[in-house]
Amino acid sequence: MLSHAYIGLGSNLDDPLDHVTRALRELDRLPLTRLAASSSCYASRPVGPQDQPDFINAVAHVETRLSPLSLLDQLQALEQRHARVRARHWGPRTLDLDLLLYDDRCLHHPRLRLPHPELGKRAFVVVPLHELAPRLALPGLGPVAGLPAWRSAGDLRALLP
Ligand code: AMP
Repeated sequence: MLSHAYIGLGSNLDDPLDHVTRALRELDRLPLTRLAASSSCYASRPVGPQDQPDFINAVAHVETRLSPLSLLDQLQALEQRHARVRARHWGPRTLDLDLLLYDDRCLHHPRLRLPHPELGKRAFVVVPLHELAPRLALPGLGPVAGLPAWRSAGDLRALLP
């Protein structure tokens, strides 16, 4: 069965814009998966410690025939392929991929929670998600346009294409 999933992408090391744009193309090449749409890229201040570079974030909409856990496996393998570049420099990883939504599934699996537990709180996820799907309703959270994260949306800067 064809499912719709939304994936959050983030990077703040080693040319983050390049990591995010390459990862978007790589999502399109995952097995049984097609990139249906991607948001603009946004620059955001880091959550937590501020002594690190700004993040580049985007959200992708994919159509997939993978199960949620198989899709998570693929996303983690894709993260590892980007991380390997960093391993040579003993640095932190360069690409973070979060499975935000998978159809309207709610899941409490040890490896996978759906919707992603931080989704509603992060402007760098909610704003690009709204750009892709303004009328989306999130299971258990309600309309994307009404999430708490909009309070901090002013801190987000869209990058010109
Ligand atoms: P992080 O890299 O800090 O985002 O966390 C990755 C860990 O979160 C992995 O162990 C995943 O199994 C787990 N996880 C739970 N729910 C999700 C989700 N919706 N998307 C991505 N990782 C998830």
